[in-house]
Amino acid sequence: MMRRISIFGATGSIGQNTLDLIGRRPDEFQVVALTGGRNVAQLAKDALDFNAEIAVTAHEDCYADLKQALAGSTVTVAAGEDAIVAAARRPVDWTMSAIVGAAGLPPGLAALEQGKVLALANKESLVTAGPLINATAKRYGATILPVDSEHSAVFQALIGEDKRAVERVIITASGGPFRDWPVSKLAKATLEQALNHPNWVMGQRITIDSASMFNKALEVIETKEFFGFQPDQIEVLVHPESLVHALVGFNDGALMAHLGAPDMRHAIGFALNWPERAPLPVDRLDLARVGQLRFEAPDEVRFPALRLAREVMASGGMAGAVFNAAKEIALDAFIARQIGFLDMAQVVEDTLTKMSSEPGLIDAAFNLDNVTQTDHLARVRAAELISVRNQ
Ligand code: NDP
Repeated sequence: MMRRISIFGATGSIGQNTLDLIGRRPDEFQVVALTGGRNVAQLAKDALDFNAEIAVTAHEDCYADLKQALAGSTVTVAAGEDAIVAAARRPVDWTMSAIVGAAGLPPGLAALEQGKVLALANKESLVTAGPLINATAKRYGATILPVDSEHSAVFQALIGEDKRAVERVIITASGGPFRDWPVSKLAKATLEQALNHPNWVMGQRITIDSASMFNKALEVIETKEFFGFQPDQIEVLVHPESLVHALVGFNDGALMAHLGAPDMRHAIGFALNWPERAPLPVDRLDLARVGQLRFEAPDEVRFPALRLAREVMASGGMAGAVFNAAKEIALDAFIARQIGFLDMAQVVEDTLTKMSSEPGLIDAAFNLDNVTQTDHLARVRAAELISVRNQ
């Protein structure tokens, strides 16, 4: 039987890798909704190639272009945030959540309400609203499968295991292009240098987040929210080769590691084929050729994002929403060359400090309205802090 699937963020790096896998098995999948942002040409091409029911751009001002590109086809065209959420309500068996940023939260929640399978690449939604996502999945009987390579690795290492026997979880980080850089050099790191990731080919935003370790900071929080481990059970290990994605340590001292080539089609394919395994078009590791695997402790002084993630987990409540929103604004400012590389962490830390003194925010109840309000306010505060810095 054909499986009905939708991809949110289809034009991005994860979305394109998902379509690559689906395109290799055309008889198995029926594509329902594809969504994108400004890359209208790619969205229209994929909607036609995969015979999608509906193509949605997040931006109203892209509607006319998308409509024109799909004129004469059977593909329904829509635009805007509400249209994306409506597309997430179209009945499917499997949804890929691969929009970048907190914008992925509303369609992710809508997809969960179908009570089917959500493949979750959009880590920002778990960091922003983990308890809300988990409660929604439970309420509607939906399954969430991790697509981040580290979390897919942990998920796989836990198959058949008793979670109570887990002592610790170790997620690895490549260390990015600035692994050995001293603080003085980091302060002057440029956008081009931050985009030069040694191992992974990813979207622009997550590539910069990898260089600053904000990506790993988000993943530490994601590990807590996804698996329910305590913050002191979650460790980060720098591993420049990016071949060991995560390790799970058990109470008998055993460490179960997951290895694979740095190719997101591993984790996407695992989620697509779950609960079975099926062949994937990824490189097989030749460890004799690799020869050596290196591991180092992360440096939380040069990469303060990791320390901030621990503080966010200790605060709990809406601190994750503030952390993610402030990080998104700081990242925008770095991309726009308004602030320096190290200023990103400072802006996030200052936003967290400022908002922790605003009563009722961090401990507000977890519902979409409160999360949206906190996310919005954190963006305003972070932008204010950036404009004060630049005066
Ligand atoms: P990309 O930047 O490559 O793609 C992002 C996608 O989201 C594009 O389809 C983009 O549209 C769309 N988009 C951007 N802004 C909005 C918005 N406001 N509303 C709706 N759609 C929007 O990102 P990645 O594919 O790299 O990452 C996607 C998610 O997966 C992120 O959460 C990331 O952290 C996570 N992830 C990515 C990994 C990777 O290897 N790339 C690994 C693990 C997790 P358009 O391009 O048309 O404007």
